[in-house]
Amino acid sequence: MADERTPFDLDAYTREVQTGECWLCRVAAHDPDYPRHYLIHESDDAIAFLNRYPTVRGAVIVAPKTHREAVIQDFPLQEYLTLQRLVWRVGRALQAVLKPERVYVASLGSPQLTAHVHWHVVPVPPGIPPGEQQAALLDLRSGYLPLDEAEARVLATDLSMMLLAM
Ligand SMILES: [Zn+2]
Repeated sequence: MADERTPFDLDAYTREVQTGECWLCRVAAHDPDYPRHYLIHESDDAIAFLNRYPTVRGAVIVAPKTHREAVIQDFPLQEYLTLQRLVWRVGRALQAVLKPERVYVASLGSPQLTAHVHWHVVPVPPGIPPGEQQAALLDLRSGYLPLDEAEARVLATDLSMMLLAM
């Protein structure tokens, strides 16, 4: 597994998300002018795809297709539970395909950055020292692992097949 991180340009990212259309709405709408994302699931209500800026291999983002911002308040219970069912399935698929030590789930939306609510489902590989787990796995200040296109395609296919089986 490649472990060479690329510095994450938080300033450029901040400018991009603050000036453009909501990037998650663009991914959900399959905007051809937006960089490709590797979807592993799509329904009428939700998408799941490989994080373009993962801190570990196989990090997935789950989001509603509709632009919602507040992680609890903007969802009727049944819609929330439907999304959480997908989070659960993605976690199970990651466990089956990548055999992580454990899976982290977090929703860290920010009105100043990505306002569109989403969940990070992050497979923690074995062997990461305790001090580098948890926050470090969600913190882009230490850089990200660039997606290898061929590897991402295979991984997205494996994960989507596994999701279909659940
Ligand atoms: Zn949006």
